[in-house]
Amino acid sequence: MAASRLFWRLEKVSAGKRFATHFTTPLDASRNTITVTAPQPPPKVLYNAKAIRSQRNLSIPKIHPRDMTVSSEDQFVGAIDQGTSSTRFLIFNLKTQQIVASKQIEITQNFPKEGWVEECPDEILESCLRCIDATASIFAELGLEPEQLKCIGITNQRETTIVWDPRTGKALHNAIVWCDSRASETVEKLIASAPGGKDALREKCGLPIAQYFSALKIRWLMDNYPDIADKLKNGDALVGTVDSWLVWKMTGQHVTDVTNASRTMLFNINTLSWDQELCDFFGIPLNCLPVSARLLRNTAHLPSRNTYGTGCFLLQNTGEKPVQSECGLLTTVAYQLGKDAPAHFALEGSIAAAGSVIRWLRDNLGLIKTSSDAEALASQVPDSGSFVFVPAFNGLFAPRWRPDARGTMTGITQFTTKQHIVYGALESCCFQTRDLFDAIAQESGSMPLSMLRVDGGMTSNKLLLQRQADLLQVPVERPQMSETTALGAALAAAVGSGFLNKDDISNLSPVERFDPVLGEKDAARRMHLWHCAVEKSLNSV
Ligand code: ADP
Repeated sequence: MAASRLFWRLEKVSAGKRFATHFTTPLDASRNTITVTAPQPPPKVLYNAKAIRSQRNLSIPKIHPRDMTVSSEDQFVGAIDQGTSSTRFLIFNLKTQQIVASKQIEITQNFPKEGWVEECPDEILESCLRCIDATASIFAELGLEPEQLKCIGITNQRETTIVWDPRTGKALHNAIVWCDSRASETVEKLIASAPGGKDALREKCGLPIAQYFSALKIRWLMDNYPDIADKLKNGDALVGTVDSWLVWKMTGQHVTDVTNASRTMLFNINTLSWDQELCDFFGIPLNCLPVSARLLRNTAHLPSRNTYGTGCFLLQNTGEKPVQSECGLLTTVAYQLGKDAPAHFALEGSIAAAGSVIRWLRDNLGLIKTSSDAEALASQVPDSGSFVFVPAFNGLFAPRWRPDARGTMTGITQFTTKQHIVYGALESCCFQTRDLFDAIAQESGSMPLSMLRVDGGMTSNKLLLQRQADLLQVPVERPQMSETTALGAALAAAVGSGFLNKDDISNLSPVERFDPVLGEKDAARRMHLWHCAVEKSLNSV
């Protein structure tokens, strides 16, 4: 579609005011951004946070009004943060990096069979548009003009795969979510047939053959839905990750960026392009894939960090050369600062179940009413006793890559209570992170990292971060501004659109620090119990 629905949404809430804006190439091959240009009006102070908040119950951040003044001179950048659990849209002040408006909506996850995880592509899109609507209302309420919103970046759940018919605009199947394990039989067959086994394609794409990645999900759809296979082969269907779906729906462009592309198994991380041999290996036609563009990603200014969301992802930047892992980590594109700049790579450890375990305690066991109850409940016990929980709902990802593992609880006694179970669920994220931490140290042959930076929805849980510091035996640092992923996407868009110089991106947000208090021996003992429990979780299917 030529006119962007997104822009229309912003226009709709501008209370009928006329403003001279247009889209400059909504999305071109060098920038994953949507850019609005406008003449500059004279500055005037428009907004007092306290007064506005008292008028309506809006998601305006609770910042003292002295610290939060916006003017008609200010520039703003937006971010769609489409995660596995929820969608957010946020608008940041480009100068202060403060959030001026935001909205978050939870996404329905469907589990039609054991190991299957699906989401509705229309619901994903609708959640974005509703978040944009709500946020645009706040923006207008602040007296700001749509043209002050300079550009919008997207950060998204990776690997989750959608196939759609470009003529009808309809998805041909529910989105198959990254942690879905339905393609495990396909994985076994491919591993058996590939010389080199599960690492046969690592040299090219940096990844082991696993159901986690998009190629396996596309292959599964083609094997199980002949009409989808025909459409893909005949060029009558398009495929993409969630970023592609959203951008196509909003602008009509079929694009993605190198970081999403590098998680499909179809993308050559050495040439930074789709790879015919990889496509042939999976039997996937190359021409149904999106154009891959260069994007600055939010990992750009961070040496290493662990994101605790639905899953958990520990990223260690390794520079301009892809480092192949021998310890079960992934080699992935971290960012590329524009079309002709070199790509930067990262080693990544991916954990399949982190926040999803807390959601499971809420939705399946009813032990908590909201995710934030987990901390209060777990705080009622000093630790989880002998109880250990391995949440291998869909197998284990890095560093073991064991699709045959399943959820396992060990060390249960009559003393075990729901408090211990919730504690154990939180602790499982810490154990898994410690395993990745050790794998990164082993990979680089160096000492372990001296601290861990963290972000993501789960990091509002202080007990989790304290336990993490205890089990790592190094300090854990959390930025006080919790929406760093969205901020990174917004700043990336601002750099890509020329509104911000990449050197002006700093990482100066104040942090909160958690120092280890558990003794080294106790931490080692807990890790030993964890490894015993992991062994028991294997060979379960
Ligand atoms: P995603 O980006 O994958 O959608 P988020 O970073 O938004 O994930 O984090 C959401 C996840 O964090 C959910 O699975 C939720 O259960 C979990 N979560 C949120 N708040 C807490 C909390 N206080 N304690 C533990 N887990 C939490």
